[in-house]
Amino acid sequence: MKLEAERISFSYGEMKVLDDVSITLPEGSMTALLGRNGSGKTTLLRLLLGFLKPKNGTIRIDGKDTGDMTDRERAMAIAYIPQSTSIIYSYTVLDTVIMGRAPALSLFQRPSEADRAKAEETLKSLGLWELRKRSVNALSGGERQLVLIARALTQEAGILLLDEPTSSLDYSNQLLVMATAEKLRKAGYTILFSTHNPEQALMNATDVVVLSSHKLAFSGKPEELLDGKVLENLYSTQLHIEKIDTGLNHRIVCVPR
Ligand code: ADP
Repeated sequence: MKLEAERISFSYGEMKVLDDVSITLPEGSMTALLGRNGSGKTTLLRLLLGFLKPKNGTIRIDGKDTGDMTDRERAMAIAYIPQSTSIIYSYTVLDTVIMGRAPALSLFQRPSEADRAKAEETLKSLGLWELRKRSVNALSGGERQLVLIARALTQEAGILLLDEPTSSLDYSNQLLVMATAEKLRKAGYTILFSTHNPEQALMNATDVVVLSSHKLAFSGKPEELLDGKVLENLYSTQLHIEKIDTGLNHRIVCVPR
């Protein structure tokens, strides 16, 4: 599925947060959303999800204006994956993932055997089957983030929005979550993830967008960031960015000078 935001503006009361921002997420792309604290990343995600209404501009999914879609239609198209630290309940992993079926059910309708089977299949596909009876509170941050991804996949939406998916994870879990996201992109999902880690944008994303001073400061391919200018401006720090051959593939890495 393709997601487009065209000339979006948004303010909280008098405070302008986004000014004339346009982004396009083609089907099967994985876009990194960079921006300093307070630059409007979360606000943009909430606008794309329809939790907030833009003051100006249009958001379209496969060409259809999301303003003309019901909440349920939108939820069937876009899934939100919050930070793993936001989970504070003690449901089991399986029950949490079954909850992803909620938008497909009518009010008070209980999940069917097919819903349960869908959740079980998703747990298996992400290697989480052994965890199904555990309470989500008893999982590591990385496991919990994968369970939230599984819940979103069970929703069967084609577009996944991830809010800083690796922010509280150790290095190996960061790699695992990003590799899972890349696998989903290759399977055809359209992915947008916000991050404070420029290396994830350079290494894992097919596309990058940067928010700065309420505006879109950059939109393009990771390779276009190789000269360092955009990221140096963003983080007010001198950076060395280089494409390296790992032996298995090419990766772009970024270190401060
Ligand atoms: P980011 O996710 O990039 O850190 P946010 O979208 O959370 O940025 O916030 C952008 C700006 O909007 C910040 O200045 C923040 O304080 C403000 N803001 C965020 N949410 C609200 C809200 N509900 N009411 C008023 N101001 C808000």
